[in-house]
Amino acid sequence: MTLNSLDDVFASLLTDALPDGSVFPATPDFLEEPRGRFKGAATVVVKPRNTDEVARIVRLCGQHRVGIVPYGGGTGLVGGQILSEGPVALILSLERMNAIREVRSDDNVLICEAGAILSDVQDAASDADRMFPLSLASEASCRIGGNLATNAGGVQVLRYGNSRDLCLGIEAVMADGSVLHGLSGLRKDNTGYDLRHLLIGSEGTLGIITAAALKLFPKPRAYATVFAAVENPAQAIRLLGHLQDHMDGAISAFELMHRQGMDFLAEKMPQVRLPFAEMPEWSVLCEATGGTDSDVPNRMMIALESAVDQELIQDAVLAQSDGQRDEFWAVRENIPEANRRIGSVSSHDISVPVPTIPSFIPDGIAALAKLGDFRVNCFGHLGDGNLHYNVFPPDGHDAGEYVALRGRIKETIHDLVHSYGGSVSAEHGIGRLKTADLEKYGDPAKLAAMRAIKAALDPAGIMNPGAVLKRV
Ligand SMILES: Cc1cc2nc3c(=O)[nH]c(=O)nc-3n(C[C@H](O)[C@H](O)[C@H](O)COP(=O)(O)OP(=O)(O)OC[C@H]3O[C@@H](n4cnc5c(N)ncnc54)[C@H](O)[C@@H]3O)c2cc1C
Repeated sequence: MTLNSLDDVFASLLTDALPDGSVFPATPDFLEEPRGRFKGAATVVVKPRNTDEVARIVRLCGQHRVGIVPYGGGTGLVGGQILSEGPVALILSLERMNAIREVRSDDNVLICEAGAILSDVQDAASDADRMFPLSLASEASCRIGGNLATNAGGVQVLRYGNSRDLCLGIEAVMADGSVLHGLSGLRKDNTGYDLRHLLIGSEGTLGIITAAALKLFPKPRAYATVFAAVENPAQAIRLLGHLQDHMDGAISAFELMHRQGMDFLAEKMPQVRLPFAEMPEWSVLCEATGGTDSDVPNRMMIALESAVDQELIQDAVLAQSDGQRDEFWAVRENIPEANRRIGSVSSHDISVPVPTIPSFIPDGIAALAKLGDFRVNCFGHLGDGNLHYNVFPPDGHDAGEYVALRGRIKETIHDLVHSYGGSVSAEHGIGRLKTADLEKYGDPAKLAAMRAIKAALDPAGIMNPGAVLKRV
């Protein structure tokens, strides 16, 4: 079914249907995304204040067959929040729906609106002596609705899971304007299909998440944060197994980083302090946390000593203060920004089975060498098998010189990932960037079911047109 472009007539219907000050011209910040790969073509942004207004907007768009692009913090990296072609759609920003409605420390539940910024949710949990463990480098800008819509991952998936695992229920406006109510915070509710899990990760293509009930956890009282040098990824995997064996489930993060990322930091962000005078080829950042009576730092020290005895580690620094812990994390968290300033030719958010990582990384480099003399910055959440495998131009060259090769580079890496039984989108989603990849590598039965679900729940195709599934 074809959609209509948003025009002046529809914009005035929208203005009439909503309180004053709800409808705005689309400013440039709504039309750009972090990597500059997509340029939006929207003309109007609507900023509802509550779920009832969202439902009214969706019904109006349905009646007039105008597409809607839900918009959170705009930090998505696959163009899901940016519509650049086809009939002009409406941007629906959740930014005004940012209230933390309730924090229940007795049953570890936080209920917030979809526009709440992730770091505000973390702070509200902390103020109630609890923790919300979702943690990403974009946490000061991304919003809970966007996190759930993309099923965001981050650095603590190893212990606490993805956004999906951290959500007890959602409130959402479906494509027909009906409201799905699911904020009870129940941990057990086996009454039929779990629509929460259908909407989580659907990237705005099935409905608009307006609020969520999130899981809280005990606040860590003790941290053991280690920056370690390892010989190679195989040794890093063995080290992770060793630390998990010795730390009783206390390991919450285990990040692998290549020296290329450190070189980029030194070049573009020299203010970020690196923990070793000479950075090793491979390093890991590992964190374990514990409760009030926990002796996590001592246990980590003992585990590190035995790792040295077993030659699982070349060198390690255990953070001695909160300041040093922050410095270690600043290294990991600034790598994406240093990458951005260098400018990648092609970036890949992929996952492969953890035991195959040591062969996947050099296989990728060998395959790329056939296309040119590229630099690879490989880093990521090792314990989840999730690597950011990013390809950069040779030193002294600009990514722009290699645009013509981007498609072949991407295909080379994604073909390799597929041959390893991996995923071409580990945590960023499909958006508009990877719709062709989903068609090429996706399981046919899964794709057929996805198309049937989309047709059943959004028959007019107004919800985020062209994202995840290509327009037909
Ligand atoms: C520096 C940096 C680091 C990052 N690190 C990580 C990381 O470690 N792990 C990770 O998973 N991602 C990471 N990301 C990607 C991004 O931050 C996440 O995907 C985030 O969850 C997107 O949230 P957002 O609010 O910015 O969503 P947006 O970018 O606004 O939207 C993303 C998608 O969700 C849809 N959407 C937004 N809000 C809603 C809603 N309320 N209802 C329905 N659909 C909605 C949009 O239409 C779009 O398809 C990173 C990004 C940056 C820039």
